[in-house]
Amino acid sequence: MVDLISGLTAERVAANLARVRAGIEAAGRDPDGVEILAAVKYLPTAELRALAAGGVTLVGENRAQELVAKHDALPDLFTWDFIGALQSRKVRDLLPRVRYIHSVDSDSALAQLGRHGGPDTEVLVQVNVAGETGKAGVDPRELPAFLRRCPVRVVGLMTMPPLAADPERSRPHFAALARLAAEHQLQHLSMGTSQDYLVAVQEGATIVRLGTTLYGSAA
Ligand SMILES: *Cc1c(COP(=O)(O)O)cnc(C)c1O
Repeated sequence: MVDLISGLTAERVAANLARVRAGIEAAGRDPDGVEILAAVKYLPTAELRALAAGGVTLVGENRAQELVAKHDALPDLFTWDFIGALQSRKVRDLLPRVRYIHSVDSDSALAQLGRHGGPDTEVLVQVNVAGETGKAGVDPRELPAFLRRCPVRVVGLMTMPPLAADPERSRPHFAALARLAAEHQLQHLSMGTSQDYLVAVQEGATIVRLGTTLYGSAA
């Protein structure tokens, strides 16, 4: 579980967003070409209005039940994505509420997408680029067949690299994900969190998923 944040202000969010965008620009990317997704697992529903007032337009939630509750409280405030470990039985609840599920990685999820998805359904496939044992994500060697089996449109790939103190350790994993997306002509690369998003954007991220760096007071 994560510690929930309270007392978030629009000013703090706006200052943090401005700092993130300046960092992306300094890293050599047009900030308008990188979507900033706010990871809201740290935020109770009551804090979400401050996020919107501070300029956040895209949010991602990790738990299906939380996504349903937060989305249904404030359906029009943001674009909603699902970024957490995907239990296939939750696909049906998530699809009508989200733009993308970032974390499709099992055949049971593909079966549910086949049953509940439609012509407009778009998802990202999570890849375990480092081949870590027990980690979520499709093995890169299995990706071509997995993409062929997917019954709905895949628009990109997502990864969570191994935890590392030095963001440079994430670079080869981000580069590997970018190569896989290029091979399969997939538009979106969902990669990079607070600690390594500047490396991720240098390697081509189109969506960075940020939590702590958006909510802290150290601007
Ligand atoms: C929490 C979370 C993030 C954001 O992590 P921070 O380190 O707080 O930026 C990104 N992606 C996923 C899947 C998460 O669960």
